[in-house]
Amino acid sequence: MFVFVKEKLEEKTFIPEEKIFELLETTQKPDPKRVREILDKSLNKQRLEPEEVSTLLNADSEELWEEIFSAARKLKEKVYGNRIVLFAPLYIGNECYNDCEYCGFRVSNKEVLRKTLSIDDLRKEVEALVSKGHKRLIVVYGEHSKYSPEFIAKTIDVIYNTKVGNGEIRRVNVNAAPQTVEGYKIIKNVGIGTFQIFQETYHRETYRKMHPRGPKSNYAWRLYGLDRAMLAGIDDVGIGALFGLYNWKFEVMGLLYHTIHLEERFGVGPHTISFPRIEPAVGTPVAQRPPYQVNDEEFKKLVAVLRLAVPYTGMILTAREPADLRREVLKLGVSQIDAGSSIGVGSYSEKDPEVIKKSQFILGDNRSLDEVIRELLQEDYIPSFCTACYRAGRTGEHFMEFAIPGFVKRFCTPNAIFTLREYLNDYASQKTKEIGYKLIEKELEKIDEKRKSSVIDGLKKIDKGERDVRF
Ligand code: SAM
Ligand code: SF4
Repeated sequence: MFVFVKEKLEEKTFIPEEKIFELLETTQKPDPKRVREILDKSLNKQRLEPEEVSTLLNADSEELWEEIFSAARKLKEKVYGNRIVLFAPLYIGNECYNDCEYCGFRVSNKEVLRKTLSIDDLRKEVEALVSKGHKRLIVVYGEHSKYSPEFIAKTIDVIYNTKVGNGEIRRVNVNAAPQTVEGYKIIKNVGIGTFQIFQETYHRETYRKMHPRGPKSNYAWRLYGLDRAMLAGIDDVGIGALFGLYNWKFEVMGLLYHTIHLEERFGVGPHTISFPRIEPAVGTPVAQRPPYQVNDEEFKKLVAVLRLAVPYTGMILTAREPADLRREVLKLGVSQIDAGSSIGVGSYSEKDPEVIKKSQFILGDNRSLDEVIRELLQEDYIPSFCTACYRAGRTGEHFMEFAIPGFVKRFCTPNAIFTLREYLNDYASQKTKEIGYKLIEKELEKIDEKRKSSVIDGLKKIDKGERDVRF
């Protein structure tokens, strides 16, 4: 049993603020030779140390940054290939008793319309998502007594059991308030993918200012939230920082120290890292003018450095960002994106003129799933809805892709092709179908002879109507 003594944790955590400031100071104006050594280490698939990450963050010429971007692209291609996993966020309820200054759902926001999906509403939302072709969701909740672990588990169970024709949701990830170990166990039992908690800011003083009330005002309870998830047996956890609250270089270092802590304590680092930027939200001045706004150039830099710092982790880029920027940032090492997203509570199944008032923030990319898939195909990515590892009980698939030689060729690429074929057969527009089938042919050419025939067999099964074909 893990007992938290608040005062004790308040004293010391695994985020060494002083040390971070010192590193960011002492590694300024780095020698290009040193930067290149660090890039080589990352390209050899080794997780970087704090001094090394701080050195990259302090690169001070355009040429050096070009080298960093190019290394990030290379690492992605080398380790993960050209697959991009697709998911959609599903907001279950926006009641919240926290008062996070940047969030549209905060308790003191009188402009937001509060809503929690009923079970019937939830089924309708899932039906709408499945009918578009989605297979993977992240469910999102405010922090409120309504959203108990039992409630969260119930909603996930409903999602898994809502089928439409050939379609179903096969993996549900969760972004909810930190739980007790007991609470996590209840949620784990229903079968979840990743449990995500974003620390928002690792800088304590900023954290205190941004979270003035409610349970979330306890920095350490949140910081150790994923430790408790791990203790409850949830192996896949996702960390993140909300960029714009404090200095972006500090936050990257915070994410790195969090990673190191999980590695040291549990022998496994985060399954994913998220790097949302603050977006405008109704009735929320801080979201309009974030205190440390991160511009697009800085955003690209932080994504590239995170990719290189933790080569084994999945990187999630959301539709908070506009389509143009997503296109560029994707190349720097992103492995998952959401598409066709709608974040007003209840807004997949109903066209709601007041959707903005039920949303946590305003999205930057409003393209449909089909449009995003088409664009990915045009850029030679394989859009993937793969959930094979999760369904076969192989947790930590990002780590396996990274660590096991041949894993991507044996499992990931064929499974991505299978899920793409399912999508094309069942949901795609004519235009997307044409490009998609061609891409599959092209990808088949790259598969070695030994494996090719079993992949072709899988595709034939799908064309005959079989679903959930996978290795
Ligand atoms: N209520 C839970 C919590 O705070 O952990 C669950 C998830 S919250 C609804 C999801 C995430 O959205 C937050 O962790 C935060 O990083 C992000 N978020 C909040 N306000 C935002 C804004 N204005 N723009 C972009 N992201 C925001
Ligand atoms: Fe509530 Fe989460 Fe929004 Fe904070 S970020 S107000 S906890 S929904």
